[in-house]
Amino acid sequence: MQLRAARLQVVGFGPAALGIPIAADRTGLLDDLMREGCVFLDRRGRNEWRSLDYDIPSNSAAGDFLEGLSPDGRLRAVLRSPEVRALQEAPDQPVALRVAARFLARTAREIADYTVRFDGAHTHFSTSVDHLSRDADGLFHSRDARGRTLALSRSAVIAVGARPLAGAAPRTVTSEAVLRRECDAQCEAAVGAGTTIRILGGSHSAFSTVGLLLREWGDLLRPGQIQVQARSEILVYRPEARAAVTDGRTGAVAVGGTADVGGTALVTAVSETRPLHRFAGLRGESEALYRAVLHGAEPRVRLLCHPEENDPAASPLTIAATGYRARRLPVLDVRGQPLFPPGEAAVDEEGRVLDGRGRPVPGLFGIGLGHCSPVGPASGDSGYPMAAVNVFHGRTADRIVAQL
Ligand SMILES: Cc1cc2nc3c(=O)[nH]c(=O)nc-3n(C[C@H](O)[C@H](O)[C@H](O)COP(=O)(O)OP(=O)(O)OC[C@H]3O[C@@H](n4cnc5c(N)ncnc54)[C@H](O)[C@@H]3O)c2cc1C
Repeated sequence: MQLRAARLQVVGFGPAALGIPIAADRTGLLDDLMREGCVFLDRRGRNEWRSLDYDIPSNSAAGDFLEGLSPDGRLRAVLRSPEVRALQEAPDQPVALRVAARFLARTAREIADYTVRFDGAHTHFSTSVDHLSRDADGLFHSRDARGRTLALSRSAVIAVGARPLAGAAPRTVTSEAVLRRECDAQCEAAVGAGTTIRILGGSHSAFSTVGLLLREWGDLLRPGQIQVQARSEILVYRPEARAAVTDGRTGAVAVGGTADVGGTALVTAVSETRPLHRFAGLRGESEALYRAVLHGAEPRVRLLCHPEENDPAASPLTIAATGYRARRLPVLDVRGQPLFPPGEAAVDEEGRVLDGRGRPVPGLFGIGLGHCSPVGPASGDSGYPMAAVNVFHGRTADRIVAQL
């Protein structure tokens, strides 16, 4: 069958990708976009949803997950779903991430069902894109591993997310797998045997993992049995950064204002000079736990500030919370050459993907977890700016939709 060129294709249909139809709906452009052709492609099955399916509290406020949806828009039915009531109960407080994940999965289904109403709009599940290429016809072709075109479009959005960095050492699991409750047997065995559980990293994922271990097996843990080994200073999120975003100011913070608490540097975000990384910095329960550990109120957890303190032989279970890397989606030019090293798509403030020389690739955008910032890594131990659902569904998506 002859494929029709769509106005847009979005590779990946996770939380960030949903921002594109959500923003179009907010501005009354959703039907135009669908009529002119809009294709979503995701390798997961229609009823599979793994994004944010972690057994921990969210690091953002419950209301953030609802922020982008217009109560008068075409997608408003999703605001009547049972998950919404749970998110609205205490909109300023964290919520179980699994509730937020169920809400996002429902929103994805609503959008997929909406595309069915339009000839040019489709949502393809169980469809893995091997690469995107800009062909001589000036269109973006998403292709499978056998080189067959899956969709073609005038513009494209990369929204394939990121994957956790795995530790190289034996007996290492990722915090991602622990938070998804895929490693309960290993954790239980280590706790029961009284052996050390070492967490690599000092991020929200690291302290969320500690929180989960304490919640599930806390009664059995001996003092110091959990060791947190952070490579860099541990950051604490400051609510002023949120105010900077909602005021429409630069939304940028820099690391500074170091306070020494209990011998460990407690670093807070204070000025406005670098792109805000909402995901950098502990907040909520993770922050409270970190402070308890610092002040000696949580003896089951020890912070290892110096690598020499670490004895791998004494650490039969290591949990790597060492950050995320962009998933690889090669983008090829008309000669079949990669436009940038795969897995290193840099996205500027306007959501435009930059080529290897830092120039925007016309018609190509990126949204979601894993993209590098052209100005270099944001503060903290990861370099992915603005990694939060309300930002994806808000200003990032608005800027992309305005350019389509
Ligand atoms: C532990 C943890 C906790 C977090 N907590 C919060 C929070 O509380 N609040 C918040 O706002 N944010 C949070 N985030 C950050 C962020 O919002 C989430 O990580 C979110 O899932 C990112 O969405 P995404 O769409 O970019 O990526 P993903 O969720 O990874 O989705 C990417 C999609 O692309 C698909 N895909 C990948 N490759 C291909 C391909 N080649 N072809 C086709 N499809 C493909 C995948 O199947 C997937 O469906 C958290 C992140 C982590 C890791």
